[in-house]
Amino acid sequence: MKARQAAKKKIVKKSVKKLATKSAKPALAKSKAPKPKSKPVLLPHLRERWPRTAAERKARATEYYGRLAAMYPDAHCALNHENAFQLLVATILSAQSTDKGVNLVTPALFKHYPGATEMADAEREELETEIKSTGFFRNKTKSLLGMAQALAASYGGKVPDTMEELTQLPGVGRKTANVILGNAFGKNIGIVVDTHVTRLSERLGLTRETDAVKIETDLMPLFPSEQWTMVSHLLIEHGRRICIARAPMCEICPLNDLCPSSRV
Ligand code: SF4
Repeated sequence: MKARQAAKKKIVKKSVKKLATKSAKPALAKSKAPKPKSKPVLLPHLRERWPRTAAERKARATEYYGRLAAMYPDAHCALNHENAFQLLVATILSAQSTDKGVNLVTPALFKHYPGATEMADAEREELETEIKSTGFFRNKTKSLLGMAQALAASYGGKVPDTMEELTQLPGVGRKTANVILGNAFGKNIGIVVDTHVTRLSERLGLTRETDAVKIETDLMPLFPSEQWTMVSHLLIEHGRRICIARAPMCEICPLNDLCPSSRV
């Protein structure tokens, strides 16, 4: 009798355990743990053209630069500006927005706030309305006000010209600082890595990184420092006109005989 009761208890225990495991499974499947970013996998036919050594990548980069510079001799910063402060404002506004959209907003904005001192005293709601069309206007207003107040308080309203000082300003990261240093001060301290530069660098076989800072670190040794600002202008221009995200026009691309991602 005792043995029969013990066996019965064992069976009940097992069923409970099974049920618990079963009900735990869907919960696990539903959990939204962030997937680690994977590096792009190279298809076999692309591996042949992929530059393998640092020397090969450098030679390829030099050739790309020459051809793109010939194709886009007027490549330049597409954000309209007349000084470092205006470029800083426009670059902050350009996050998650098009340069065209920013250029529509800035003429009135620069008229209203000619410098950091004027913008530092801006009414938050008013500024929000003025930049609303560029998207994420609340965060951008916060960055613009914080940046302008920091410039007015610490730099006499002037924009500093070092990476260290610029990246201390609210709303200013390495990418924005590179834009200002390269285009307003003519200083090649780094390479601006935006969505176009990210896509083209990978397609052209210059990096397999996906993080902007790591891509910049891969790109910098491939080009002489005096070309760093122009490198990003050229890649951005090519990304907008030919090497479009969804449908790259490889058949008319001047890099198609070298590019490991060419479809022709
Ligand atoms: S060949 Fe195609 S993928 Fe390569 S850079 Fe040109 S357009 Fe882009």
